[in-house]
Amino acid sequence: MTAQITTSGIPFDAQGQAEESRRRDLAMQAFVRDIAMTNAVQLEACVRCGLCAGACHFFVTTGDPKYTPIRKLRPLEQAYHRHVGPFAPLFRLLGIAPRVTAEELEQWQELIFDSCTLCGRCTLACPMGIDIADLVKQSRHGMFAAGLIPDRLELMDRTTKLWGSPATPAEDFADIIRETGEERGVAMNIDKERADYLVTVAPAELTEHTKALSDAAKVLNKMGYNWTYHSKGFEASNIGYLNGDIELQEKMTRQMIDTAVKIGAHTLILPECGHAYGAARWESARWYGEKVPVRVIHMTEFLDEAVASGKLKLKQINQTASLHDPCQLVRRGGVLAAPRNVMKALGLDLKELADAGAVGWCCGGGGGVVSNKRADPIRYRAFELKRRQVEDANAERFVTACGQCRITLNLGANKYKWDKKVDSLLELVADNLID
Ligand code: SF4
Ligand code: SF4
Repeated sequence: MTAQITTSGIPFDAQGQAEESRRRDLAMQAFVRDIAMTNAVQLEACVRCGLCAGACHFFVTTGDPKYTPIRKLRPLEQAYHRHVGPFAPLFRLLGIAPRVTAEELEQWQELIFDSCTLCGRCTLACPMGIDIADLVKQSRHGMFAAGLIPDRLELMDRTTKLWGSPATPAEDFADIIRETGEERGVAMNIDKERADYLVTVAPAELTEHTKALSDAAKVLNKMGYNWTYHSKGFEASNIGYLNGDIELQEKMTRQMIDTAVKIGAHTLILPECGHAYGAARWESARWYGEKVPVRVIHMTEFLDEAVASGKLKLKQINQTASLHDPCQLVRRGGVLAAPRNVMKALGLDLKELADAGAVGWCCGGGGGVVSNKRADPIRYRAFELKRRQVEDANAERFVTACGQCRITLNLGANKYKWDKKVDSLLELVADNLID
């Protein structure tokens, strides 16, 4: 796969053989479809104050005005003014809202995919309450329809459709679980017909983070729960949520939740993955049209509940630690106290970063950015911001509760020869269980 270059020198990828005009039409149709009443109100509300710029790590670390968050909504805005807004016929007649060109769509690919992690920090800063992150995510639907997404994300899309996961064929999942259990001496449960808890995984846990698979099992075994992993519903990362493939998003969500219902589970536990939480916790109801039939919680919430129940006793680490707040879990998901409670239970003395909790800076790799090789240079710029804050906090440990954040931060650490290991909260808990 070779990136093509726009006339202004910006790399972009294209899938399929559609003519440029056809791509433009497909994207516009999808943009228009997504502009419901709420979105229209949001698109009309911007007062061009520029406050969102200072909230975005990509703008702050480059100073380049093209990374101003609201600029990332241009395609959606243009579609709105030309086709949906109250003055659309007039705007078209007077040429105020010109037709989007294929060249513009190609240039926007960088803004919508490479330089947005869907972190929502701009959303929080906007005085008009415009959910820029969500609108960028919706813009990705149009780009996917036009075959104009980064090739790396398209590859993951294709692999997921073929295999059921971007990391491994679903038919190999049970073997991975069994082998991990054998290697680490942990009793694993797979494909049980009935269980109270269905435990799901992120792709990295099937490759470099396999310890998380046995760590989750250790904790659930310790609690004495009836739980299982399941080959029919294990993949939680949901690439469709990230790349704009709405059909795949629905399929991946239904696979997990329907499996949970089938085995009689009352709770579905999501892995240490931020976007898995966004997709399953906050967007799954749209596919069911009613309350989701199972409780969906993040691994961090599960650990918090386990600690609070008094049944999970932990050894005291007695060190200082800083926490990287995963955007989808903390800012977008509201799970602010749970990781802090678990750290406290581990005897970790929390040294908060200068911007912590809901206003924490993104790791720079969310929203598919870390999987999009082309975005490496800008991602490393964003990492510098986080690195400075961690160094200023000067704690002995650095902890997070999202595997993708961990990968992003570790990549940054390797590149800059930064001597800081990023710990997983789940791993810390599993390593410090009191027998
Ligand atoms: S969601 Fe995050 S990365 Fe995307 S524009 Fe807003 S602040 Fe920037
Ligand atoms: S902060 Fe909100 S109102 Fe201000 S420019 Fe950004 S999107 Fe527009």
